[in-house]
Amino acid sequence: MSRYRLQPTPAQEQALLEHCGHARFVWNLAVEQHQHWKPGRKSAPGFAEQCRQLTEARAEFDWLRAGSIIVQQQALKDFAQAMANFFNGTHRRPTWRKAGRGEGFRIVAVKPADVRRLSRNVGEVKVPKVGWVRFRWSRAVPEGVKSYRITRDRAGRWHVAFAAAPAPIGAPGTGESVGVDRGVAVSAALSTGELLSVPGLRETEAVRLARLQRKLARAQRGSNRRAKVKAAIAKLKAREADRRKDWIEKTSTRLASQFDVIAVEDLNIPAMTRSAKGTMDAPGRSVRAKAGLNRGILAAGWGRLVERLEHKAPGRIVKINPRFTSQRCSACGTVDRQARESQMRFRCRSCGYAGNADVNAARNIRMAAAGHAVDARGGDRVAGPVNREPQPVLLPA
Ligand SMILES: [Zn+2]
Repeated sequence: MSRYRLQPTPAQEQALLEHCGHARFVWNLAVEQHQHWKPGRKSAPGFAEQCRQLTEARAEFDWLRAGSIIVQQQALKDFAQAMANFFNGTHRRPTWRKAGRGEGFRIVAVKPADVRRLSRNVGEVKVPKVGWVRFRWSRAVPEGVKSYRITRDRAGRWHVAFAAAPAPIGAPGTGESVGVDRGVAVSAALSTGELLSVPGLRETEAVRLARLQRKLARAQRGSNRRAKVKAAIAKLKAREADRRKDWIEKTSTRLASQFDVIAVEDLNIPAMTRSAKGTMDAPGRSVRAKAGLNRGILAAGWGRLVERLEHKAPGRIVKINPRFTSQRCSACGTVDRQARESQMRFRCRSCGYAGNADVNAARNIRMAAAGHAVDARGGDRVAGPVNREPQPVLLPA
């Protein structure tokens, strides 16, 4: 994602605000539908059903029909993704959007001709139903832009962020595969035994952040001082986010060029193994996940890593059912809930294998991808659509 300052004319701003309003309206409708859902009831409508309902609503309401269907459909898609993230335990449940807060919308199916450069510092992007909107060409726009998101912050500033799929990287052709497990103490563990960590804030930066946050708590609401402190905090957090993104790009490139096959857990299987409560199958896992201070941030980074891997190594990513990966011994295959001695340590009571728990999981993921691991229940379940409520049949017994 690369973000640019958008410079709409007053008339364009009105049209953009209308898109934001439609996206918010559709999103809030979806939130409302899902709030009515309770365990045991028929599942709340999924993405496909909601799209059908949107078509009906557009037929009925002129003001909705006057808006862009892409904007409205993408709002539903964003919501479906938010629900999937919620069930994966990486994000909170999506909530109502209020006017003026976190406003924005996404445009997909962007063609190369929809973004152009006018002069050294000025570019234009074509927005459906709005036309060409100028933006500050502060750096090169990535090639192959597939979608973009337009946002308006609380200060009323508009930005456009372009998302481009990177060019695929050729497989090394060695026949080698790797399993990657998302950890908490480290960011990712490889079946090769390597542990990878996202660089966070440096010691001094973390201290400074903590100090700023204390300052913020004391600052008077609406004061200049408060605004200044807030801006300083935002700057530090942006730096941290940049480092994380950079790490994701480097790591995904490295894995894609080093291995023919990369196996990861399929997080779209709502097996609830990561839920806060935990399950019989994965009691230690959620405890472990909670141990991470910024679990959500790490998890979001993980999702992005997998996404980038899929871009860079298309057809070479194998997603496997996460079931038992943390309790199975990668040496002898025994599933043992008590093999986990601690967050970090795995010790098999059958064969005596001992090692880093995340590496053990990564080895299982690699083997599962190669078809060597025999699931205790006989094979993987098929992943359902990402946007649906957990069905009883999919929940571990
Ligand atoms: Zn063993």
